[in-house]
Formats: sequence, C-alpha cells, structure tokens
Amino acid sequence: MKLGENNSFDVVKIRENFPFLQRTVHGKPLVYFDNAATSQKPKEVIEALSHYYDHGNANIHRGVHTLSMEATAAYEDVRKQVKHFINADNEREIIFTSGTTAGINLLSSVFARKYLQFGDEVIISAMEHHSNIVPWQLACEATGAVLKVVPMSDKGELLLHEYENMLSDKTRLVAIVHVSNTLGTVNPVEEMVAMAKDRGAWTLIDGAQAVPHIPIDVHKLGCDFYAFSGHKMFAPTGVGVLYGREELLEKLPPWQGGGEMIKRVTFEKTIYNDLPQRFEAGTPNIAGVVGLGAAIRYMEGVGIKKFSEHEENLLKYATEEIKKIPEIEIIGEAKEKVGVLSFAVKGIHPSDIGSIIDKLGVAIRTGHHCTEPIMDRLGIPGTARASFAFYNTFEEVDIFMEALKKALTMLG
Ligand code: PMP
Repeated sequence: MKLGENNSFDVVKIRENFPFLQRTVHGKPLVYFDNAATSQKPKEVIEALSHYYDHGNANIHRGVHTLSMEATAAYEDVRKQVKHFINADNEREIIFTSGTTAGINLLSSVFARKYLQFGDEVIISAMEHHSNIVPWQLACEATGAVLKVVPMSDKGELLLHEYENMLSDKTRLVAIVHVSNTLGTVNPVEEMVAMAKDRGAWTLIDGAQAVPHIPIDVHKLGCDFYAFSGHKMFAPTGVGVLYGREELLEKLPPWQGGGEMIKRVTFEKTIYNDLPQRFEAGTPNIAGVVGLGAAIRYMEGVGIKKFSEHEENLLKYATEEIKKIPEIEIIGEAKEKVGVLSFAVKGIHPSDIGSIIDKLGVAIRTGHHCTEPIMDRLGIPGTARASFAFYNTFEEVDIFMEALKKALTMLG
C-alpha cells in the first residue's frame, strides 16, 4: 500500500460513477489532473440533467400549470440544499448565478454603485484569479476608489501583518480567494474576515477552488459574501452561487433588470422583487441548478470530510514523488494547501511539458492560470499544474511521474 493510501475510501467504486474517466486519450487510459479548470461529472448529475429535459423542462416561477410548478419546486429545492450545504441562515441568501465570475461581477457592480466613493479602498490579494481582480478594477475606475493588494511570500502565503497595516477606516470591502487555483494555498480567511470586520469593511470570499475540496460553513467563516461555480464541484457548467448575508443583500440595488427581478412594472416606476429573485433577472439555468443539486447530493453521499482526507493524502504523495525529480521546482509551498500541485522547470516552457504528457494520456494545465500577477510576482512565465479530485488515484500519480520523467528526458 502506498503512502497515505486509505482503504476505507473506495476510489475504484467512485470512478465507476464517472463515465468520462473511462475514456482514453491518444490510445492511453486518461489521467485527468485538470480538475481545477473543471471537474468531471458523476452519473447522478448527468442523469439529473437528462431527466430534467426528458420530464421536467418548463419555465419557472410564472406558470400555473403542473410542469411549471414542478420545475419551480425542483429549482427552489436546490436553493434549500445549497443553504444547508454552506450553512447559510436562509434561502434568501442564496443567489443562483452562472458561476464565480458572474457572482463577483454582480457584487462589485452593485456595491460600487451604492457604496464606493472617491478615495475609498478595496483590498484584494496577490494571488487572486483575474475574475477577482478585474471586476474590482472596473469598480475602482468607475468611482475613484483605490485598489490595494495584500502581498504574498515566495512560498505563496499572504503576509498578514501587511494586510493588517493596509486595513483602515477607508477600507470598504475585502475580497480574498479561499483557495488559490495556481498555488493551492488555503488562505486564513476566517482570520482575515474578522480583521476586516473590525474595520467595518464588507467581505467577499472567492470559493471557486475551496468548495470542491473542503466543507464550507459561511457562518464559521463569518464572511458577508461567498461565490462559487458548479462546474468545479461536479455540477454542470453555467451555474454557480453567490451567497450574501440577507441584511446586506437587502441594502444593495439590483444588478440586471428584466423579468423575475420585479414585482410591478409601469413606465413611471418599477418595484423590485424580494430576495433572492431581485438578483436573478431573466430565465436562469434551470437544468444547471437541478444538476447542481444532484452534485451536492453526490458529494454529501460520498462524504466531504472523507474525500478531503483522500485528496490530502494524494497531494502529499504527489508532492513527495515530484520532489524526487531534481530539475523540478514546486511553485506554491504554503503550509495549508489543497488540490493543486504547480511546478516549473528552469529552461523549459511549461506548455512543452503539458503537450508531451498529453500524448501519454495525462491531462494537466499549463500557463498563467488566469493569475498573471502571481507569475509577475514570482518572475516566471507560467507553471505546469496538476490538480486533483477525489476520484484520482495513487496509481495515476505514478503514471504522471513516469510521463513527467519521459518529458524531461525528451526536452533535455
Ligand atoms: N476564482 C478562482 C480561484 C478560480 O479558480 C476560477 C476558475 N478557474 C474562478 C474564480 C472563475 O470561475 P468561473 O470561470 O467558473 O466563473
């Protein structure tokens, strides 16, 4: 048995539930290590989508006929599921979006409109995904607010004393990534949120890479907003969630205008709908939401704590194995990490490694991973990134290491 291999976690049985994992690439069995980009879907999710379109397809909220009422119930049931999944207070705090990017853009737009003024400050960090940088740049450009960036160490950990110094009475909002998609760093968001709150600032956590790996409790984190994407947590693409504390959501103006988000429209004046519909203009991704419900059921069925442990062992094993290859430098060596192993080799472009091991059936991602400021900070053009999910195995790590050694030999 390999290091940390956990017999109580039946990964073979789990893999049978993911049809995609059975396919081959270039005649080789697929080793899918690009889970941070998007995850594969269990049968339960695929069947939920298919069942919805076979039996349940109708528009929601507006119909008096049975089909519409059934579709509405299915959609709203998932809202209840999400509420439990992240331990929110009530369903009104759960806004369905098309993904993390949409959730952050929603918040940044409406927050800026009402609360940001010239000279105010918004704090983000050095390891944000572009989707938690650019929306805040747009908000600051529109209002004259100032964007501040918490720096990080060479190992990929945020410098909390710098953050503490940066916080002031001008800080209106702090937006921090929970888990870095490039470095795997798990940031101390609970502590960072508490520090922001002391200064009266609002807080948003980008949970895109955390939700697939660790249990999320928004109460415990204490954050005001938390955004994540379905497709990274075994659900379909095009669906996501923005959690927001009810008290704050109530204060914010609507984002997009249209159907669903209104109670009454006249040419003179429109009365907006209650939460959460006020932030869900237009026909949403109903099938996607149903698929998200199936994914949550699936994750809870497997047991998030249980699969977290398997992933932790997998990451530890992969890290130890990759360290045996002398040319390789690991990028991101924070004490707290999940899911991601980024690395670089001096003199070799990461995409050359990615292309060669693709021919051997191993799918990893190479480049800047939508975090160009991290690359600038570390002075590298990009990284090669293996990212894991609970359906990955120790044998796959071995295949990956062999592929990597072959690639390095070929690339000299
Ligand atoms: N934040 C992080 C940390 C991410 O990894 C990603 C996706 N790579 C996003 C935000 C954006 O997610 P989406 O493209 O699903 O909106």
